[in-house]
Amino acid sequence: MSRSLLVRGARQLLTLRGGSGPRRGAALREPGIIEDGAILIRNGSICEVGPSRRVENLADARDAEQIDAAGRVVMPGFVDSHTHLLFSEVGLDWWEESLAQAETGMPTREELAGAERQKDATPARRLLSRAKRYLNQMLAQGSTTVEAKTGFAVDAASELRMLRVLEQLNGDPLDLIPTYLGAHGITGPEASRPDIYLEWVCGHLLPGLGRREWPCFVDYAAGWTPVQGESVRRYLQTARNLGLSVKLHSGQFPNEHNVATALECGAVSVDHLEFTGAAEIEALARSHIVATLTPAGDFHWPDGRRYAPAREMIDQGVAVALATGFHPRECPSTSMQLVIALACRYLHMSPAEAVAAATINAAHAVQRAFRAGSIESGKDADVLILNVGDYRELAYFAGGNAVWKVLKRGRVVYEEGRIHHGV
Ligand SMILES: [Zn+2]
Repeated sequence: MSRSLLVRGARQLLTLRGGSGPRRGAALREPGIIEDGAILIRNGSICEVGPSRRVENLADARDAEQIDAAGRVVMPGFVDSHTHLLFSEVGLDWWEESLAQAETGMPTREELAGAERQKDATPARRLLSRAKRYLNQMLAQGSTTVEAKTGFAVDAASELRMLRVLEQLNGDPLDLIPTYLGAHGITGPEASRPDIYLEWVCGHLLPGLGRREWPCFVDYAAGWTPVQGESVRRYLQTARNLGLSVKLHSGQFPNEHNVATALECGAVSVDHLEFTGAAEIEALARSHIVATLTPAGDFHWPDGRRYAPAREMIDQGVAVALATGFHPRECPSTSMQLVIALACRYLHMSPAEAVAAATINAAHAVQRAFRAGSIESGKDADVLILNVGDYRELAYFAGGNAVWKVLKRGRVVYEEGRIHHGV
């Protein structure tokens, strides 16, 4: 028996409808609003979208269960396309010390390696329970699809263990998209022979990933490791030849530019991009690559990190996405709503641009735009109903949570927590 659900009466229904590619330029500013809008959902998929008066009179809508969204904004679930979800320690001592010393730098490679050695020894069940806690926060704040990276490749067994943990988290209820972040925290004897280590990754680990049933992205964090230049290209090309899609961290450090490598290797996205020059922006604008920006990570380092030149990118025609960049040391936020608020203030994006970058363009950054990122017929019914009457409130308020209900494939998976008054 088919199960139908009607969400009706939305003051603003943000569809984010549009062409098949990521939004650029003027298209990024067009949220596709239907006033007094409705969505008809059947078996978890969107089957009709339009004015309430039309949709609620459809034959299929008459017997449907209903959610009254009167006075509220309805929009697609956020796609958080860049997170480092698996870790054991946040590094609070190190962080407090850096505040007291007014240090503004990034964690060093050695500090990260230390954090990751802890992670390496952490039982899978602890990684799993911690990751669940953060995923629940993400869900409650409106993320319905989340990318998560392994990382640091201390050895193959620990990398594969991370992928298995991510596999267990998928679909409960978020969609989780796994990424193998290779050669990130090389420690021990491998650190002095990074090229030999990478040979091993290309010859043994990547072919194994290519054979897995649950495909993952392959990513590389430029600037964090001793592996450079030709070796990085070989690593990413090997992944591509095995049928794996690739991503690249780029431009997190001055004088570290990898956009050319990303172009050569057919990357789906390049991420961070704080240090990005005019020629690279021009090259990105001519490419299919999505530029994923992470302003909450920059916000986390007072005076220490510059923000990516988003305005120039958008004006030149780059397809820009937003993500939290959630990370044990680099970014403490699980909230795409905060990311939108920061993008408007520090990346000089408009609220409409930030919303499109956090939904449809982020879905393109993880190759899920065929089923997520907009409210269009045939896509999964991943829908947010917000406690606001104008979507720009998402950008205006910072640090709160506007979510009333979250639907994942047409099922209510989160409802605003209740406060008991009058005690
Ligand atoms: Zn990252």
